Amino acid sequence: MSLPVGSKVPGLKIPLRFDVPLSRYSTIQIGGNAKFFSEPKSIEELQGLLEFARESDLPILGIGKGSNILFPDDGFPGLVITFIHFEPNKIVIDQDRETVTASSGVSLYRLALASRDAGLGGAEFLSHIPGTVGGALVMNAGFSRFPGKKMEIGELVEEVTVLTPEGEIKNLSQGELEWDYRKTNLDGLIVLAGRLKLHRAPTEAVTKEIQESFSYRNRVQDLRYPSAGSVFKNPAGAQGSSGQLIEKVGLKGKKIGGAMISDKHANFIVNTGGARASDVLDLISLVQEKVLEAFGVHLEPEIRIIQNISIPK
Ligand SMILES: Cc1cc2nc3c(=O)[nH]c(=O)nc-3n(C[C@H](O)[C@H](O)[C@H](O)COP(=O)(O)OP(=O)(O)OC[C@H]3O[C@@H](n4cnc5c(N)ncnc54)[C@H](O)[C@@H]3O)c2cc1C
Repeated sequence: MSLPVGSKVPGLKIPLRFDVPLSRYSTIQIGGNAKFFSEPKSIEELQGLLEFARESDLPILGIGKGSNILFPDDGFPGLVITFIHFEPNKIVIDQDRETVTASSGVSLYRLALASRDAGLGGAEFLSHIPGTVGGALVMNAGFSRFPGKKMEIGELVEEVTVLTPEGEIKNLSQGELEWDYRKTNLDGLIVLAGRLKLHRAPTEAVTKEIQESFSYRNRVQDLRYPSAGSVFKNPAGAQGSSGQLIEKVGLKGKKIGGAMISDKHANFIVNTGGARASDVLDLISLVQEKVLEAFGVHLEPEIRIIQNISIPK
């Protein structure tokens, strides 16, 4: 079947498109085409899509804003589902329990602002992480502008609602969830929503912290070019952060094709224009080789590198 790029599949009631450039759905703006692509708005649409993928034997990849992902140059030969339009306004505040429940498609910025407007604080550190609630839960996203202080979304979670590969909707309580450094046991599940425990806080203080958090990021991170944020996890017990180790081996500003190790924040790889996934992967290998050679430290990628998949005929 040959249809123009991005067109809808005739006859299907679910909003399915195909041959969609993934570069438009990743903040680093890299990636070939998804064979099938969809932006479900509701659980019914999502279930329809999963049924279609099952019947067609297609691999599925669920994404949020694509702010922590490197898609392959060859694209993805299955169904990519983005949650950016999945109940994007569904935020429920429980004033008595001081909780906020948000659907996976809610942006972290909206989550922080809605909580603030309801007189709740605790989510400020998430406000300028450019992802969705779903992506942040899967990644156990975290940020702190205070040295030595670690703040991760997992610490706030009371419950996460998921869709299992068998199509069952389940509520997982904090006790059933495993939170690690940018790693959780939510991988392989579809995250539908999360409930976070916050605390009462004055609006002005929350607003101030959101602003401070942005100023800090703007100062420290490289927001001039498209990127996927920090590329490597910080190694435990090593002689510095990943950025510091990369800087020490002299790779700051190193360019391969259109990709560059940021000359502002060495743990960022930025797309200076026309970068390919292969350029980024070559820089990742170069960094790993040089840092291992100099410090005996293996730097593990934080970004999700989607591998080339070929579907057996
Ligand atoms: C400029 C910049 C700054 C950043 N700063 C930070 C930071 O300070 N701290 C931090 O932790 N991260 C940071 N990041 C990385 C990124 O924003 C976070 O990891 C964010 O939580 C990812 O959310 P997302 O919606 O974009 O997820 P995506 O990147 O789309 O996906 C991330 C992973 O989650 C999976 N996923 C996403 N949604 C779902 C879902 N609903 N169900 C199942 N699986 C899903 C994807 O398959 C993928 O494996 C930064 C990125 C950028 C570009």
